[in-house]
Amino acid sequence: MTSFIMPTYARLPVTFAKGEGAWLWDDHGNRYLDALAGISVCNLGHAHPAVHQAICEQSAKLLHTSNLYGVANQEQLAEHLCRLSGMENVFFSNSGAEANEAAIKLARKYGHQKGVDRPAIIVMEKSFHGRTLATLSATGNAKIQQGFEPLVEGFIRVAYNDSAAVERAIQCNPNIVAILLEPVQGEGGINIPGAQYLEQIRALCDQHGLLMMLDEIQSGMGRTGKFLAFQHSSIKPDVCTLAKALGNGVPIGACLTRGQAAQLFSAGNHGSTFGGNPLACSAALAVLKTLEDANIIQSAQTKGDVICSKLQSQLQSNPHIKEIRHLGLMIGIELDKPCAELVKQSLEQHLLINVTNDTVIRLLPPLIIDEQQIELLVSTLVQLIQKFTEE
Ligand SMILES: *Cc1c(COP(=O)(O)O)cnc(C)c1O
Repeated sequence: MTSFIMPTYARLPVTFAKGEGAWLWDDHGNRYLDALAGISVCNLGHAHPAVHQAICEQSAKLLHTSNLYGVANQEQLAEHLCRLSGMENVFFSNSGAEANEAAIKLARKYGHQKGVDRPAIIVMEKSFHGRTLATLSATGNAKIQQGFEPLVEGFIRVAYNDSAAVERAIQCNPNIVAILLEPVQGEGGINIPGAQYLEQIRALCDQHGLLMMLDEIQSGMGRTGKFLAFQHSSIKPDVCTLAKALGNGVPIGACLTRGQAAQLFSAGNHGSTFGGNPLACSAALAVLKTLEDANIIQSAQTKGDVICSKLQSQLQSNPHIKEIRHLGLMIGIELDKPCAELVKQSLEQHLLINVTNDTVIRLLPPLIIDEQQIELLVSTLVQLIQKFTEE
């Protein structure tokens, strides 16, 4: 079949027509359990009534004016985000990559203010920060960069979860002005760093006058059992980026700052036509209100524990399971062999999952997944894994 869409995606053979909560229905009316939530986008599930109502009401009033004018619900959203995160101000974008672009520009501006002419940012192996030129250059995955050289310069790569490696890089390079990392790596295989890692990075940033920049695009918005994953630690970053679940499916991203980082941009330094427009902000405000009211974030922690302890006990005799790890509902099941085929096998069982970094089954179910759906998720997945690893 000829497609008029550029072949940038290896699409699975299914098309969804509607959703409700953690359920999706394809265009033939078959029902699926969604344990991926559009890669941690629809954290409140599909067709959430509060989001639906907010965007309906907003679209009847005003979709877009311009950032040339005041945008009332953008102000409200920024305030709400700062209150939940402990950050001080916000730049709104339309996507995660754009939120990270803002962070990268902030780091460069910070460097120039300090008299560093060629500022550099420490980034991590196995990181993912997006597909624009700067963010793919920051990303720690050769497959994503290949064919798009020359990459944007000014990124120094070190091993993740290794603060000594960060310290060595800082000592070797006087141009370093910032560190950009995910508090839990998503695309890289659900990699959860040691308990003190963020504190150690914070201490190095303070000691050397660097900006600590956290990419919470996948880990944020309640996914790990806190509003933001860094809130499991005692630190605050200088810059924090959000997108994905911020609009529960309506495109919106945000770059949050505090302290010195909050004073770097002035009028004309950055901008976006759509960023933070009334429609997107109405969705994000509905998401924040729902997350705050309904104890959903707290439940992500317990549901993650339940899913993983069930998986642990039912898979404990399987020697091909290397590790089951999770923070809240950000779950990785690492096998001892590549397992990309499981995605399609799982789809055939009407369960949506994902495999990342070749060997890691990734689960990012909507935070509102219920007990029966958890049972179905675990039993379907365990059967699939047992069969797959026997082969
Ligand atoms: C998805 C993701 C991005 C990119 O977001 P887009 O909206 O696709 O540009 C960046 N960083 C992380 C950690 C992500 O998971």
